[in-house]
Amino acid sequence: MSKSTHLDLPLRFGTVGTPKSAPANGGSIGGVQRIRELNLSALELGWVQSVRVSDDTCAKIKAAALENDVAISVHAPYFINLNAETEEMWLAGRERLLAAARAGYKAGATDIIFHPGAYMKKTPAEAYQIGLGRLAEVVTILKSEGTAVTLRPETMGKSAQLGTLTEIIAWSREFDNVLPCVDFAHLHARPGDGSFNTYDEFARALHQIGEGLGDRALQHMHIHFSGIAYTAKGEKNHLNLDESDINYKAFFKVLADFGVRGRVLGETPNMEEGAVLMQNTFQRAHAKVRVGRGR
Ligand SMILES: [Zn+2]
Repeated sequence: MSKSTHLDLPLRFGTVGTPKSAPANGGSIGGVQRIRELNLSALELGWVQSVRVSDDTCAKIKAAALENDVAISVHAPYFINLNAETEEMWLAGRERLLAAARAGYKAGATDIIFHPGAYMKKTPAEAYQIGLGRLAEVVTILKSEGTAVTLRPETMGKSAQLGTLTEIIAWSREFDNVLPCVDFAHLHARPGDGSFNTYDEFARALHQIGEGLGDRALQHMHIHFSGIAYTAKGEKNHLNLDESDINYKAFFKVLADFGVRGRVLGETPNMEEGAVLMQNTFQRAHAKVRVGRGR
């Protein structure tokens, strides 16, 4: 029987990658167990270099996730570009994305997160269209073979990268198995001027998602969060919450106020410490909303 999460929150919290405090030789299965010990309930498998995992290991991850009530997602390899300049480069990236989706599905993952690429020498509008056609290829292949996962292109943190919130929402409108992975730290870093860091700006983003995609997105959110260092060109590197300017208390208040459901995966260098801080911060905001509604 699965151990139910006793926090009863509308969002699950966890880490991208195995928690630091998991046993050294435990792999992803030890990671799943450690997530549960920490009273967290989500894990994103960080297959960011390549996908090299046996069917047997996938089956064991899936069993451990069910047993511990931990929701699994996969971060696909970085080397994927929906706007790759040559067909050969695109097909190599497509193979990586398909491999992540197929193995992830066997490991019990419901959601496959990937970085959509860069504008290269194209205008954003051209890159978007090229990406749309290639995303359709991946969607068609996965559906035809019964790999039932949601593809999640991620909002990116540098101005040269494909992946504004508007682009990700537009792709998601085209396919019923595509939804955004909204990295709010990336959205904060992307303009490079310190903006996108207030309650109202976070709320506007959720409005935009709601208008574009409705409850299909807002009730199944997949969020990446961390502190972040940036320059005028955008993201430099991820930071711990307390060592950055990210207004995380306002952020989790917005999530509570909007009543969104889904997952928040922490990407702070301190891993599970950050994820626990996020969960605690959200839990307090959520409790206030409940009191406010007189429940
Ligand atoms: Zn990412």
